[in-house]
Amino acid sequence: MAPQSSEEHRNKERVRSSMDRATTIFAEKNIRFTELRRKVFEEIAQTTASVGAYEVLDRLAKKGTRLAPISVYRALDALLEAGVVHRLESKNAYFACSRLHQPRTGRRPMFLSCETCGTVLETDGEDIFKSIDGAARNAHFEPRVKFVEVSGTCQECAAKRKDKG
Ligand SMILES: [Zn+2]
Ligand SMILES: [Zn+2]
Repeated sequence: MAPQSSEEHRNKERVRSSMDRATTIFAEKNIRFTELRRKVFEEIAQTTASVGAYEVLDRLAKKGTRLAPISVYRALDALLEAGVVHRLESKNAYFACSRLHQPRTGRRPMFLSCETCGTVLETDGEDIFKSIDGAARNAHFEPRVKFVEVSGTCQECAAKRKDKG
């Protein structure tokens, strides 16, 4: 067997620790972390980029788990409810919460989506949500904000671009 590259190894470690953390969160919220939900989460946690529902379906099929799309969507709903994945509305795709290991603050995140590598990160967006709410109310509008997404370039891609000069 070929030795694993350190990157592969790191990725496996990351997925394993995400699985552990998700297991704890499911238990805390009293939601069942079924085999199917675990499998779907594992596929999404493999990468820091967002993944579409049909891509999850394809990947699982290649591993021998053939599912109806509705089953994957139901599993995704449970993962969203638990907060271990989020939905990127602009791409209609899902990504693993990048703040899984941080203490839950109840503050809403905003999503930062890299246009180059597809990585999706999160940062505290609570102040932005509040100011959107305020501006909407000033316009006599009842806001129902669910997400804030920002597209751009992640730190790694920015560094690579700099290297190229
Ligand atoms: Zn998150
Ligand atoms: Zn990037």
